[in-house]
Amino acid sequence: MKSSEDPFLQAAIEEARKGLRAGGIPIGSVLVHRDKIIGRGHNQRVQKGSVIHHAEMNCLENAGRLPASVYRECVMYSTLSPCPMCSGGVVLYGIPRVRVGENQTFLGAEEWMRSQGVQVDVLQDPVCIELMRAFIAENPTLWNEDIGE
Ligand SMILES: [Zn+2]
Repeated sequence: MKSSEDPFLQAAIEEARKGLRAGGIPIGSVLVHRDKIIGRGHNQRVQKGSVIHHAEMNCLENAGRLPASVYRECVMYSTLSPCPMCSGGVVLYGIPRVRVGENQTFLGAEEWMRSQGVQVDVLQDPVCIELMRAFIAENPTLWNEDIGE
């Protein structure tokens, strides 16, 4: 399946665009359980003034408290390669698979997740790449703040 035909990646992209429209950083995420979206989120650094609500953390928070048995059957989607904080959430809750929109504009902790047994698929989706490329070009200071640089 091409990434442009993956409805869950498309949902994550829609979250990223929602964030962009609100003046935020365009990164989106969805949590999928047995082919159904059970959580959605996007980066909230600007909107909430949050240092922890990256897209994936915001998605996990919005999905609410879930039993370990549910996480173990989930796939997390993110439009961008998950940073060490968000990769920590994935490993902590035992999410077995992450599908990443792209890792060309930022490479997160993919190798560490793999070392912890997580399957990480990188789709290199052109829409995800362009969203971040354009954003970083226009907002380098804000972007560096989000990744601790
Ligand atoms: Zn993150």
